[in-house]
Amino acid sequence: MLLAKHTLESGVLMLRGLNMDRQLLISSLIDYAGRNHGATSVVAKGSDGVVVTSDWAEVAQRARRLGAALLGAGVSEGQRVGTIGWNDHRHLEAYYGITGIGAVLHTINPRLHDEQITYIINHAADTIVFVDRDFVEVKDRIAADCPTVTQWIVFDAEYESFIDAAEPLSEWPLLDEWSAATLCYTSGTTGNPKGVVQSHRSIVLQTWATCSGDGHNVNSSEAILLAVPMFHVNGWAMPFASAMAGAKLVLPGPELDPESLIEWINTEDITLSAGVPTIWLGMVQHLQKTDGDIPSLRRIAVGGSAAPRSLMDTLEDEYGVFVSHVWGMTEMTQGSAGRFTHRVERMDRDQQRARQAMAGRELYGVELRLIDEEGNEVPRDGETPGELLARGPWVAGSYFELETPQSHTEDGWLRTGDVATMDSEGYITIVDRAKDVIKSGGEWISSIDLENAAVGCPGVVEAAVIGLTHDRWGERPLLCCVVDVPVEPTTILSHVEQEVPKWWLPNDVVFVDEIPHTGTGKIDKKQLRTSFADHVWSEGGS
Ligand code: ADP
Repeated sequence: MLLAKHTLESGVLMLRGLNMDRQLLISSLIDYAGRNHGATSVVAKGSDGVVVTSDWAEVAQRARRLGAALLGAGVSEGQRVGTIGWNDHRHLEAYYGITGIGAVLHTINPRLHDEQITYIINHAADTIVFVDRDFVEVKDRIAADCPTVTQWIVFDAEYESFIDAAEPLSEWPLLDEWSAATLCYTSGTTGNPKGVVQSHRSIVLQTWATCSGDGHNVNSSEAILLAVPMFHVNGWAMPFASAMAGAKLVLPGPELDPESLIEWINTEDITLSAGVPTIWLGMVQHLQKTDGDIPSLRRIAVGGSAAPRSLMDTLEDEYGVFVSHVWGMTEMTQGSAGRFTHRVERMDRDQQRARQAMAGRELYGVELRLIDEEGNEVPRDGETPGELLARGPWVAGSYFELETPQSHTEDGWLRTGDVATMDSEGYITIVDRAKDVIKSGGEWISSIDLENAAVGCPGVVEAAVIGLTHDRWGERPLLCCVVDVPVEPTTILSHVEQEVPKWWLPNDVVFVDEIPHTGTGKIDKKQLRTSFADHVWSEGGS
């Protein structure tokens, strides 16, 4: 029996609540789904091209088998187990099987370079690593440099015999909810990747927030297509949220190309999906080219980088898809809410769309604030930019075995590295990443706003803006565009001019075949800056 009274360090007697002592554990999610939504489908395509249709009962059972197999292989609480996989059923089982026994699920981004993968496996000291058959070559190249890994198990027949040899656990062990559950490294566009460790408690709480109405309203009536990779910020908690809600879940394997996504939406009657803007830009272009449709899809969650307003307008006007645009980071997963408030619901369409183009608003559980360079709070006036800080029970308080004195303020807020404005209702607008903002004549230009305006110009498929040195102004914007029909630079600039202050206008427009992306689908500005380091401003542009 719990002690009802407890003396605090200060000597004050605290009266404890008399609730049951039940820990918030990830295993409770899969148990719940297996028990109540056992017949709800989980459809997955492996990299072998085979579509596996199972259900939550089967996922729950196979996860228990995997848990038992891992214990049998000597994996103990707190040890890290890596995955290099696509969105498929075995990866989903790993999400639950690894965390269920108290080991730590370390999802590894296969798009990173060999050296980065080796670095994070060694830093995490992974003991076993599960690898998709598509990445066996990566494993072969790096295995000798990963001394902590005792076993590499390929997500195919090898994995099947690994779990077949074990009897499913009759029940999951009772863990402390503060036990580490997942480890995810940020892509490290600057410096080495930093490991974010989420506890069971934190995952359950953030999953609840994702399921909440103002989160992504994940509920049992949905069929969810996971278009965000499971190695990117735990698939934005969607693999956990689908189980908590008992929703149908579709895992498209390696096929995240527009054609496949459209086919999945239509064959599996998908109602909700989540992914970065580039995925949806590609899908919309394909739909337009092929005169296609996606009638079942009602909502998508978009984040990870800024979604252009033109994308949201097209999705809603032409395909009836509401875009819930949110901001988030590996350090907290979803960090803002995309749903319209009662007041915004009653605004005219243009005002609503202006809200939607912002990066969501403060969601209960992740407190947000802005500070200036001296650390003073910046007013929530929708205009004054400041550095965005975050704090909350599922926000990273520090990084895995890494001293990063700059990552948090003295009073414990996470420095997000984003420059933003906020309004009185908590709506945030990301001006830029602090390192991407263009400093022209002492004033700031938002590369994000310029990109979004350029993408709104017919013919422009994707746009990226970087700041390059300029003799007179310090830095000026260069606009890089991918077009699908010839477009005059002046046409693009006059389009952009309607959306931004005149002095923001890029000095030059260059056309490129492709815009480089990072492993998590963001524009790789570092690479662009290197490519255009020797750019000479044209006469009109200087
Ligand atoms: P990485 O740094 O590894 O790419 P994250 O996915 O954690 O990984 O990136 C988080 C960053 O992505 C945020 O700090 C922000 O700069 C950017 N971001 C996320 N969502 C949005 C959004 N809706 N609008 C603009 N930027 C966003």
